[in-house]
Amino acid sequence: MEPSKVYFIQLKTSDQKNLNKKKIKRLFNNSGLSDIIDKFDLTAVKMHFGEQGNITFLPPEYIEPVVRMIKSQGAKPFLCDSNVLYKSERDNAVDHLLLANRHGFTLENTGAPIVIADGIAGNNEIEITIDAPINKKVALASEFITANSIIVVSHATGHLGVGLGASIKNLGMGMASRKGKLIQHSVSKPEINQEKCTACGICKKWCPEDCIAMYPEYAEINEDKCIGCGECLAVCRFSAVNFKWDSSSEELQKQIAEHALGIVKQKKRKIGYLLFLVNMTKDCDCIGIEQEKIIDDIGVLAGNDPVALDQAALDLTKKYAGKNLQEKSFPDIDCRVQLEYAENIGVGTRKYVLEEVEI
Ligand code: SF4
Ligand code: SF4
Repeated sequence: MEPSKVYFIQLKTSDQKNLNKKKIKRLFNNSGLSDIIDKFDLTAVKMHFGEQGNITFLPPEYIEPVVRMIKSQGAKPFLCDSNVLYKSERDNAVDHLLLANRHGFTLENTGAPIVIADGIAGNNEIEITIDAPINKKVALASEFITANSIIVVSHATGHLGVGLGASIKNLGMGMASRKGKLIQHSVSKPEINQEKCTACGICKKWCPEDCIAMYPEYAEINEDKCIGCGECLAVCRFSAVNFKWDSSSEELQKQIAEHALGIVKQKKRKIGYLLFLVNMTKDCDCIGIEQEKIIDDIGVLAGNDPVALDQAALDLTKKYAGKNLQEKSFPDIDCRVQLEYAENIGVGTRKYVLEEVEI
């Protein structure tokens, strides 16, 4: 397979808003993203609107120039994400839309309306046949399938389940319906260390399946009811919840890659990617707390190969910070699994040529 082209422009969150908008437009044009969009397309801009309490999600001013570029092709852009599994203001379309509005993703700020891709309760889905080693079919949020074209906008972060949250993760987990997400998570189950547990009860409050029992000195998970969503791990402030990452993270990464294959196969040439290496944090934007940057801002990547973009993100963070984003965030999780597996099943290639776009 030929190496993929990955386009790169330097960008810092601290730079002037207008300069950053100009850079994003320049990158969009020079990377050929315009070519995947045809006149009159209904074009989904795959987003993450940020969990309540998170402040490092990609802000509306990075999305507005993307919307503008799509409109310049004569297409009709809309911002789009799917609902999440865990208890959150993003677990149904009504609260999800209200949260997006509070985070500034208004028609006035971005120029595009919002559509939640899997409906009000996360069950609007279309199955795509992939004939991959684990799944013959994957269940994806229906509006991503219905859209004529997609620009996937991802924010590179660490990730507690798979080490790296970037383009592949945004595709595979971010575009799955509730059923698709459940299948992906079914391989990973957490356990509570009773020595560390303070019986504070926060995990029980957030567990979407109500499968955590509280005792005077510790909490306990009912494994039979647990769906492996990871919410208890994310909210525990005492590091009392652990996943058995050795095997389950690998399985989760493979599941994500197979779900990513579903959308890549279905969209063919009508999908492109932007990956922002700014405001990079240990945890992803689903975590509702204020996080510190762990690597200085680098820039934005663009192209038509999500595997190549994720590989470039790892290489660039290593080059600039000495360790890559996953090594800095979750050193015990090997995120190369998702890239290698995605390459093997045909999502893209890890070989790439980096081309810097000048402003
Ligand atoms: S959040 Fe952590 S410390 Fe609190 S009850 Fe749950 S496992 Fe125990
Ligand atoms: S116990 Fe299972 S279902 Fe409940 S929050 Fe934890 S991972 Fe999710």
